[in-house]
Amino acid sequence: MARKLPRKDVVVVGLGWTGSILSYELAKQGLDVVAIERGPWRDTASDFPPGYGQDELRYGVRLDMFLRPEQETLTVRNKMSETALPVRKFAGFLPGNGVGGAGLHWNGQTWRFLPSDFNLRTHITERYGASKIPEDMTIQDWPVTYDELEPYYDRFEKLAGISGKAGNLNGKIQPGGNPFEGWRSSEYPTPPLKQNYGSALFAEAAKKMGYAPFPRPSGNISEGYTNPLGVTMGQCTYCGFCERFGCGNYSKSSPQVCVLPALMRLPNFAVQTESEVTRINLDNTGKKATGVTYVDTSGEEWEQPADLVLVCAFSLFNVRLLLLSGIGAPYDPQSGKGVVGRNYAYQTTSGVSVILKDKVLNNFIATGSGGMMIDEFNGDNFDHKDLDFIGGGYIGSGQTGARPITTRPVPKGTPRWGSQWKKATAETYNRAYNIGTHGSSYSYRDCYLDLDPTYKDRLGRPLMRMTFDFHDNEIKMSQFLTDKTAEIMKTLDPVELTASPRKGPWNSTIYQTTHNTGGTVMGNDPKDSVVNRYCQSWDVSNVFVPGGASVFPQNAGYNPTGTVGALAYWTADAIKNRYLKNPGPLV
Ligand SMILES: Cc1cc2nc3c(=O)[nH]c(=O)nc-3n(C[C@H](O)[C@H](O)[C@H](O)COP(=O)(O)OP(=O)(O)OC[C@H]3O[C@@H](n4cnc5c(N)ncnc54)[C@H](O)[C@@H]3O)c2cc1C
Ligand code: SF4
Repeated sequence: MARKLPRKDVVVVGLGWTGSILSYELAKQGLDVVAIERGPWRDTASDFPPGYGQDELRYGVRLDMFLRPEQETLTVRNKMSETALPVRKFAGFLPGNGVGGAGLHWNGQTWRFLPSDFNLRTHITERYGASKIPEDMTIQDWPVTYDELEPYYDRFEKLAGISGKAGNLNGKIQPGGNPFEGWRSSEYPTPPLKQNYGSALFAEAAKKMGYAPFPRPSGNISEGYTNPLGVTMGQCTYCGFCERFGCGNYSKSSPQVCVLPALMRLPNFAVQTESEVTRINLDNTGKKATGVTYVDTSGEEWEQPADLVLVCAFSLFNVRLLLLSGIGAPYDPQSGKGVVGRNYAYQTTSGVSVILKDKVLNNFIATGSGGMMIDEFNGDNFDHKDLDFIGGGYIGSGQTGARPITTRPVPKGTPRWGSQWKKATAETYNRAYNIGTHGSSYSYRDCYLDLDPTYKDRLGRPLMRMTFDFHDNEIKMSQFLTDKTAEIMKTLDPVELTASPRKGPWNSTIYQTTHNTGGTVMGNDPKDSVVNRYCQSWDVSNVFVPGGASVFPQNAGYNPTGTVGALAYWTADAIKNRYLKNPGPLV
C-alpha cells in the first residue's frame, strides 16, 4: 500500500530538459512544484569535473550515466509478424537516466524545423499531389505553425546560449548563415564556434559546388554568456569529450548548466531523485488525474497527489507511462484505430568516410555540435518531382572527437590486430574523418509502440514493445543524400572513400541517434492525436505531455531538441496564461 504524501500543485515526471523548463516556469509563477526523477542527482562540480569527466572507458564505452536495462528496458522487432525481444544492452539509442536526462550528455546540436515541416501533409499534397505520399505513410500536419513557435524557439536558444549564425533575420537572408531556415526574430545569442580543419575543407569543397555551407547551431558555446535566468556559462575548450559525457567546463547547454542553478533556489520547488513514477492515478471518472505513484530504490511505494501532472519522461517513457496508466486509447495497427503509441518515428542517418592523402586533421580538437553543414537537401528545400521519395536531411562535417578507444580508422583490408594494424592506425588516425547525413524519418502505419504481451519489468509491469523498420522512402532518401555527400568529398581527392547509405533492416545494436519520436502525437483531432495543440491530453485535461519528442507527428531531417525546448516553453505559456485561469480542456 503506497504511503500518501502532502498534495502539491504540480508533479513533474522526469527532470531532463522539458521537466526542468516546466518546473522553473511554473514554480516561478508561485505554484508548489515537485519533480520526481528516476535516476540520481548529478552536478557539474561533483560528478564530472575536468580531468575526471573525460574518462572514455567509463562514460563513452561503459555508458556510466545512461539508463541500465535492468532498471527499465523495452522489447524491439522490425516487423509485426516477428516476436519482439528485450533490449539487454542499450546501443541503437541511449536513453538518459538521472537529473538532466539525456540533456546532460547530449551533443548540443540545436536546430529549428523548417516551416514546411509543420504542415507536411498539406505542403506535399499541394506541391506534388496526394499520390506522392506512400499509402502506408501516416504523416500529418502539426497543430502549430512555425510562426507560432518562433518566439519559443528564440526563448530556448537564449536559455541555452546557442552559438550560430542566422541565415534569415525577419525574412532577410544573411550571408554566412543557413539560407533555407525559417525566419528568426533575432541573431543567435552567441557567435559560431571556430571550425576545425576537416570542417573547413568540407565547407570549401561544398562552396565550390555551389552550396551554401554554414556553421551548425551549437549548444557547445563559443564565448562566455549569461542567460535570462542569470546563469553564466563558460567558453567551450573543444575538449572532444562531449557526446556521452558531462561538461565540466559549464560550456555545454544542459539542464544542469542552464536551468538548475536558478530552479534549485526557488523555495516552492523540490526534487525527489532515484524514484520511478509507475503510474498516473485517475479518479473514478477516469477523466481527472489525482497525482502519481512512484517507487523508490528500497522498493517502497509512495503516492504524490497533485492538481496537475506533467509527463516529461523522454519520448519513449512518456508513451509507456500513458499506456500503463490507461490514458488514451492504445493504437491498434490492424484497424488503424487508437492513438497512444501511434506514429513512432526515428532518424535516418548515414555517412561517407574518407582518408586524405597529406592533410593532418587533428580531429581530437572537437566539440559535440560544431562543424559546417549544408541544407540544400533537407525537407522540401529541393524539388522532389522527379525523385521517388519525399523528405531529406542536412549534410555536414561534425567531428565530435577522436577519442582513443573508439576512434581507430584504418584503410580497407588492414588486419584487425598486430603490427600492420598498429602501423595503419598510426598513419591514418589523423587523416581520416566522416561526413554525415541526418535525414527525416516519416511515420508509417506499422511503426508503433505498445505493451509487450510477454515480457515484464522488475515490478511486474509489461515492457513497452517497439515495432520499427526503415521503409523504402527513407532508404531511397538516404541513398540520395549519401551520393550527394560522396560527390562533394570526391573533390578532395581522398585516398579512400567509403559511402555507407542507411540500409534496412533497422538494427538496434548499432548506435544511430537517440532521436526517438512520436507515440503521444499532438494534433487537432483526438482521432489521430493523444494531446491537443497545447500538449494537453484529450482524455484527462490535467495531464500535459509538454514537448518531449513523443508529441512529434513524424520526425524532420533535424535533431529534435530545439523543437522539444520550444514546445516546452509553448506549453508552459499555455498552462500559465490559459489553463490556470480556467482549468479544463483548452481546445
Ligand atoms: C548521446 C546523445 C546525444 C544526443 N545529441 C543530441 C543533439 O545533438 N541534438 C539534439 O537535438 N538532441 C540530441 N539528443 C537527444 C536529446 O538529449 C533529447 O531530445 C532531450 O534530452 C529530450 O528531453 P526530454 O526532457 O524529453 O528527456 P530527457 O532530457 O531525457 O529527460 C527525461 C527524464 O525523465 C526521467 N524519467 C524517465 N522515466 C521516468 C519515470 N517513470 N519516473 C521518473 N523519471 C523518469 C529520465 O531519467 C530523464 O532524466 C541526444 C541524446 C543522446 C542520448
Ligand atoms: S567540447 Fe566544449 S562543451 Fe563539449 S564537453 Fe568539451 S568543453 Fe564542454
